[in-house]
Amino acid sequence: MQSNRQLFLNHVAQTSTQPIGIEMVKAAGIYLWDVDGKSYLDMISGFSVCNIGHSHPKVVKAVQNQAGEYMHLIVYGEFIESPQTTYSKYLTDQLPASLNCVYFTNSGAEATEGAMKLAKRVTGKSKIIACKNAYHGSTQGALSVMGDEYWRNAFRPLLPDIEHVDFNGQSAIDAIDKNTACIIIETVQAESGIIKPNQEWIQAIRKKCDELCVLLIFDEIQAGFGRTGSLFAFEQYGVVPDILLLGKALGGGMPLGAFIASKSLMSTLTHHPVLGHITTFGGHPVSCAAGKAALEVLLEGKYIDTVFEKEKILIDLIKHPAIVSSRTAGLWMSLQFASPELNQTIVHQCVVNGLITDWFLFAPDRLRIAPPLIITEEELKEMCAIVLRSIEEVVH
Ligand code: PLP
Repeated sequence: MQSNRQLFLNHVAQTSTQPIGIEMVKAAGIYLWDVDGKSYLDMISGFSVCNIGHSHPKVVKAVQNQAGEYMHLIVYGEFIESPQTTYSKYLTDQLPASLNCVYFTNSGAEATEGAMKLAKRVTGKSKIIACKNAYHGSTQGALSVMGDEYWRNAFRPLLPDIEHVDFNGQSAIDAIDKNTACIIIETVQAESGIIKPNQEWIQAIRKKCDELCVLLIFDEIQAGFGRTGSLFAFEQYGVVPDILLLGKALGGGMPLGAFIASKSLMSTLTHHPVLGHITTFGGHPVSCAAGKAALEVLLEGKYIDTVFEKEKILIDLIKHPAIVSSRTAGLWMSLQFASPELNQTIVHQCVVNGLITDWFLFAPDRLRIAPPLIITEEELKEMCAIVLRSIEEVVH
């Protein structure tokens, strides 16, 4: 009989020759446990999904209750399903008035796809501007706006009429013209190793979009839900997008994405053609119930209020001569080492020492720190000590 490891390698499709490959059997709060009983502190929150930690009892209860009432009933948007209506209201209550209508999807990539279609439909234009080193998902439309040719090239031809510009650069502002449908920007560039936008840059983009009737799309799929110190990162820049993309933490550990816009923009999807975006499982009632419960836990627990204090702890404690540079955006840090190989070895050593971490897609020389926001200051200090010990064990 094949072991679970053999089944994983032989029958579960692999996209990497070096998966972490640990068999986990339980997760709760900030910890995961493997099949041998070893515990791991989740230093990346399942890639910014588990901002309130794993399997919070209120989220588990919401999932159980909803599964007991009903699961899938019909394709998106036909029946009135209270998990969708109550979550869309709760979510839009947290947002500026113009972002009042939610299209729930299955994933972040599908939210990107839906938003780009909405921008084309609303403006009647086709040019899409995206940033170098941006990541918006792995489906073909989202891949077309991904900001790195290495990752795109094997899958060409992709969407036409895409222009890639510099994040924080003048080229982004210059590229916006009367043929542009939209510009899509991460509010903090995640996979480039955490890069924040300049406030003046992002405000200049908003202004040019307004002048030329171009839609501004913000991707908060990874930056959202408190990670940067406000519920959504864009709140810190004084700029409101026309379309907001959410995913990851949106579902509280269940699969869920969304693109959010004004009711008037969104209503264009009802005609020419009718059913302008179709999804079977988008806005799944169990995912919406879980997501709403998770957002309640996040807001009622006031965890976001602790983010800047915790960022300071990271900045104060994580210092080592082997760290070439570091960047933070709230409880989110990237550490740069001299080479991708050295970083890989340190990532591996962290895992050996009971910390789950990883590298960044466009910055393989950087190590990722993004623990659940519920982590206590004591636990965070302990985590920092293990990171430093892991670096020390590798470089000496
Ligand atoms: N946008 C950003 C900024 C992301 O980080 C991701 C996923 O990592 C996506 C979009 C795509 O989300 P998903 O993997 O749910 O399709």
